[in-house]
This record gives sequence, structure tokens and C-alpha cells, in this order.
Amino acid sequence: MNLILLGPPGAGKGTQAKRIERSHGLVQLATGDILRAAAASGSEFGRRVKAIMDSGALVSDDIVIAAIKERIASPEAKGGVILDGFPRTVPQAEALDAMLAARGLRLDHVILMEVDEAALVARLVGRFSCKACGASYHEANHRPKVEGVCDLCGATEFVHRPDDRADAVRTRFEVYRRQTAPILPYYRDKGILRTVDGMGDMDAVTRQIEAIIGVR
Ligand code: AMP
Repeated sequence: MNLILLGPPGAGKGTQAKRIERSHGLVQLATGDILRAAAASGSEFGRRVKAIMDSGALVSDDIVIAAIKERIASPEAKGGVILDGFPRTVPQAEALDAMLAARGLRLDHVILMEVDEAALVARLVGRFSCKACGASYHEANHRPKVEGVCDLCGATEFVHRPDDRADAVRTRFEVYRRQTAPILPYYRDKGILRTVDGMGDMDAVTRQIEAIIGVR
């Protein structure tokens, strides 16, 4: 099974993708994570990518398409993938169709997480994650069970993303409206777009996604 989780920044795509990855034996492909790893490498390319990401703008289609193409061709992706943060433009959506078709694969579900934009700003500005395993937390409503210790892996270092600053968040929403929302009709026309209410608690959102993709 291959699926896409779509939605504006902070909709909870990464959190849900990690849950489904574990329960359904799929591989999460998150272009944001792939690009953050490139940015952390400190290379000249990494520095350029980091500057774009920190501003909230999109990295060029060529770069992200090449990164996803390489991962879709990898042996781990054979059992199915959850795309998180890709595609974000119509050319990326078209490139994805072509690369899946070339491997005899197809998209089974495109799931749009619908959310309230004002609430999302608060969600983004308060979020942080485990530096070791990437588990997501929130200052107000999802702190680790033991203060300062990751629930999943026990690590004690946490990070805030530079692009979760208020100005970069505003840019990311504008980019979503202008460049990413236009891919919704693309998938609606193919008849594979489904929506879930992304504002409920995490378990409720997972249940809605499982109602679409099946429970394992
Ligand atoms: P995310 O972690 O998905 O919120 O992505 C963080 C940032 O990485 C975005 O604001 C973009 O700068 C960049 N990025 C992630 N995925 C893509 C993509 N599919 N196309 C272009 N830029 C991307």
C-alpha cells in the first residue's frame, strides 16, 4: 500500500505517519526530514537547503523529486510507503505518478488532514521533538510523561525547528495555500482523495485514517 498524507504545516502528518508506519509495516518518506538531514551535513549544498527551509519557502522540485525517486527505488520501500510532506506542488505530484508507474506501483490513498489554521499556528510554535528519535511533543498538550525524557527512546535532548518561528510559519501557510493546495483537485479528479478531521486528539485522527486504509 502506498499513501500520501496531505495537509498544511502542523496538521500532524509526521505524527500520524510514524504511527501508521509502526502499525502497518510501511516506510515513512518525509521530505522535510530528508532535507533537514542534508542541511545538518554542513556541506555547501546543505547550507543552501537550510537557508531556504528556515525561511519557510520550498526547496526546488528537482531536488526533492530526485530524493524521493532514490528512496522509492530502495528495497525497504517495496512493502509500501507513506509520503509525508511530498508532493507539495503539481509538478511533484506528476513526477510521483510517473516514478510509481515506472515501477508498476500506484497510489492507494491520498488523505487530507483538515485543520483550523489559527489553531495550527499555536500548535507549531509550541512543538518540539526528541533529538535522537524524532518523536513529537508540544509545550502545552503533549509533554513527555517524565519531564525531559523521551517517551519512546529515553533520550534527554530535544529540539525546536527554526522554521517554527512565527514569521516562518506565516510564510509556510502562504506557500501551502499558493503552491500545495492546487494539488488537491489533481487527486480529487483521480477519485483517491479522502479527508479526515485533523483537529481531534491523536488517537481519534489515527482511527479516522485506519477507517480509510484498514486496521492492522
Ligand atoms: P516539513 O518538515 O514537511 O514541514 O518541511 C520543512 C521544509 O522543508 C519546508 O518548509 C520546505 O522548505 C522543505 N520541504 C519539505 N518537503 C518539501 C517538498 N516536497 N518540496 C519542497 N520543499 C520541501
